[in-house]
Amino acid sequence: MIEIKNITKYYGKKKAIDNISLTLTEGIYGLLGPNGAGKSTLINILVTALSQTAGEVLYGGIDIRDKRSDYLSDLGFLPQNPRFYKNYTAEEFLKYMAALKNVGGKIDGKIDELLDFVNLAKEKKNKIGTFSGGMLQRIGVAQALINDPKIVIFDEPTAGLDPKERIRFRNLLSEISNNRTVILATHIVPDVEYIANKVILMNNGEIIKTDTPNELMKSIDGNVWELIVSVDEIEKYITMYDISNAYREGDIYKLRIVSSEQPHEKAVSLSPILEDVFLYYCGKQ
Ligand code: ADP
Ligand code: MG
Repeated sequence: MIEIKNITKYYGKKKAIDNISLTLTEGIYGLLGPNGAGKSTLINILVTALSQTAGEVLYGGIDIRDKRSDYLSDLGFLPQNPRFYKNYTAEEFLKYMAALKNVGGKIDGKIDELLDFVNLAKEKKNKIGTFSGGMLQRIGVAQALINDPKIVIFDEPTAGLDPKERIRFRNLLSEISNNRTVILATHIVPDVEYIANKVILMNNGEIIKTDTPNELMKSIDGNVWELIVSVDEIEKYITMYDISNAYREGDIYKLRIVSSEQPHEKAVSLSPILEDVFLYYCGKQ
């Protein structure tokens, strides 16, 4: 169990994290927020790469800075925009990461198992410099798992992935989430929509809400509308309302509007989806 207690972080005068408290147990947590919300800052504090201005993070009741090496041996991390050594083969890179993380024992079997798991078995002897974006991301997942961590943290893991690769990644996540704490930071709603047990909504350095996707959607029931408008009315609605989607069909637009008031007498109430929740709590992006 990880307890985040009253964490605040300033960069100079800029407050990036504002008194966040949160308890994390097993399962997949989607840390969802727009760019600049403070997700990477919080994650970098969680992996002890950055120190907080105030507050503490406890793992098993102990401050993560006190028994740092014990904590880090339970942790796997894929940073935002990772850089890999291009001249290493997949196998060499994983061996190197295993050495860095002090993973002992029969590492060869573990490496084969992981390469197989992330669908890179055929690339074992190939240099990382030749890998596509999706392959790089999968080797990134493999290195995060090399020490069989109890806590796995991914920061914007789907950036640069094509739709197929995104689906693959979601499947990988579901498979590794048993008996683990998985934290996935993203600004992309579909990344967490179907796989997160809990979504932590973050904006302006604060946690706006933490709940299951279903409860979050329920919490804004009655605030989502469909309205059909003509092309020349569209500007007015975009200025006045939060629009979570707009489909054009010939001369008309079908708008999906997030608003506590019925935007027009002809607007029809819709069941919220997570994208609406994001817009409702995190505002216009
Ligand atoms: P996110 O990961 O959600 O996009 P970040 O944690 O990267 O957000 O950033 C949160 C806020 O802190 C942003 O306003 C960002 O500009 C600011 N910030 C991040 N890193 C630094 C830094 N090293 N120095 C100053 N400000 C920073
Ligand atoms: Mg970030």
